[in-house]
Amino acid sequence: MTISRRDFFRVSTSTALGGLVGLGIDLAPATARAEALRIKDTKAYPSVCPYCAVGCGTVVHAAGHEIVHVEGDVRSPVNQGNLCPKGAAIFQLHVNPNRTTKVLRRAPYATEWEEWELDRAMDRVAELVQKTRDETFVERSPSGKRLNHTLGIFSLGGATMDNEWNHVQQKLMRGLGVVAIENQARI
Ligand code: SF4
Repeated sequence: MTISRRDFFRVSTSTALGGLVGLGIDLAPATARAEALRIKDTKAYPSVCPYCAVGCGTVVHAAGHEIVHVEGDVRSPVNQGNLCPKGAAIFQLHVNPNRTTKVLRRAPYATEWEEWELDRAMDRVAELVQKTRDETFVERSPSGKRLNHTLGIFSLGGATMDNEWNHVQQKLMRGLGVVAIENQARI
């Protein structure tokens, strides 16, 4: 008989649970206790999952400046406490040891990445933005209609950017005359 991976997990799980129930062991209090210990003495901050346009509500538990747990917000009419697998892994944004924490720059035609100080990288971005805007800004169309825009810059936000960042980004880009503004979460 061929047993699929799905069958294997279904049988294993039901057997294990059946065994515990058969022994009269109720896991609910232990699970609740473990959860309570994890967020003990933390402060809860309501937030929104950054990944997609559904906008599920979350609760971020933090001890001081340290995030210790993120879960779905049961008060949210959008998700009522539920999170999809991607949203349920939000905490990993904070603790994943493989995430990039330094500015990496690869020069044109280079094959290696080099580490840059943040200030240096920000200065370089500002320099290129100003140069591009100065070279491509259009005040009026050929017919004289006021445009005040540049088509030389495109802004693409990331799904992990929060509401506040997006708000400021919109203001900055509109102020520069950028009209092509999009977010990766909607693509
Ligand atoms: S939890 Fe999932 S569905 Fe909800 S906003 Fe995040 S990515 Fe979208």
